[in-house]
Amino acid sequence: MSQNEVFTIKGHTVKPGETLQVDFKIARLPTHTPIDLPVYVFRGEKPGPVLLLTAGLHGNEINGIEIVRRLISEGKAIPNCGTVIAIPIVNVYGFLQSERYLPDGKDLNRSFPGNKTGSLAHRVAYVLMNEIIPLIDYGIDFHTGGASLSNFPQIRCDFEHGINIKLAEMFAPPFILNSKMIDKSFRKAAHRNGKHIIVYEGGESLRFDDYSIQEGIDGTLRMMKALKMISDAPEASHKCITMKSTSWIRAKYAGIFHPLIAPGDTVKKNQLLGTITDPYGETTYKIKARESGNVISLNYMPVLNAGDAITHVGK
Ligand SMILES: [Zn+2]
Repeated sequence: MSQNEVFTIKGHTVKPGETLQVDFKIARLPTHTPIDLPVYVFRGEKPGPVLLLTAGLHGNEINGIEIVRRLISEGKAIPNCGTVIAIPIVNVYGFLQSERYLPDGKDLNRSFPGNKTGSLAHRVAYVLMNEIIPLIDYGIDFHTGGASLSNFPQIRCDFEHGINIKLAEMFAPPFILNSKMIDKSFRKAAHRNGKHIIVYEGGESLRFDDYSIQEGIDGTLRMMKALKMISDAPEASHKCITMKSTSWIRAKYAGIFHPLIAPGDTVKKNQLLGTITDPYGETTYKIKARESGNVISLNYMPVLNAGDAITHVGK
C-alpha cells in the first residue's frame, strides 16, 4: 500500500477525499498547439491501494476510453479507500487522428520505458514510467482488438506470476488468457518496477461495443471491491473461463470471408466456422475448427488475403 498519507503528483498534494485533475505536458503539434496528457486523481477518505486505469494507448481503441470516461462521469472512480489514477486517453495524438500509432509511426505499447528526448511515443512512455508508475500498486490497461479483429471481453495476464491471475479473477471477465509479457510493453515495464498491470481487451477499434464497455466497467468495480477500495460491485453474470493455451486460425486462401461464428461462441472440433469464396461464386472453401474451444476473437473484415487471421480460439 503506497502513498497512503501524503499523495503527491506533479508537485500537487492530494489529500484524502480530494479529487485533482492535472495535465502533463508532452510536446507541441507542428502548429505549436500544446498536447497535454490529462490525468485524474481520486482519493478515498481512508488509506488503501493505488489503482491506475489507462485507456487509449492505441488511439483508435475507443471502448477503453469510454469505460474510463463512464467510471469518471458516474462517480464510480472515487474509492472509499485508497486512490484511483485515471488516464482516459494516453495516446492523445492517435485519438485525434483515429490512429493506433503516434505521428512518429511508433506503437506506444512497444516504446517503454521511453526517453525524455526521444520521438513522441518515447516521450509519452517516459512520462508514464517516471511520473505515474512510481505512484501505483496495480493497474488495468484497456484495449480492443487491433485491425478488424473483435475481441470477446477478456483479461490477458502472465500466468507465471500468481498475483496477475489473482487480479484477473477479481475482475472476473468472461475469459482470462495466459499472455506472456512482450518486450518494451507498458505491462512489462511496470512489472520490472514491481507494479502489476493486467490488460483488458473488448470489442474492436473505432467502434463502440456496449457489452465490452459494460463488462469493462463491472470488472473494474469487482476488482476495486476485492481490493477493498469500495464496498459494492455488480456480480458477474457469466462463468469466468481461464484459458491456458490459444491458437489462431488463418486464411489458407484469399477471398471473401463469411463467418458462421461470433466472439464468445463455444465451438467443437471440426465444426464449420465459416467459408471463403471467390467473388464470382465459383469456389467455396470451408474453414473448420482444429479443436474444441471458445472463440476469443473474430476478424470481421470480409475481404481476406492468404495468411490473414480469421479467429483466435482458446481452450
Ligand atoms: Zn491496443
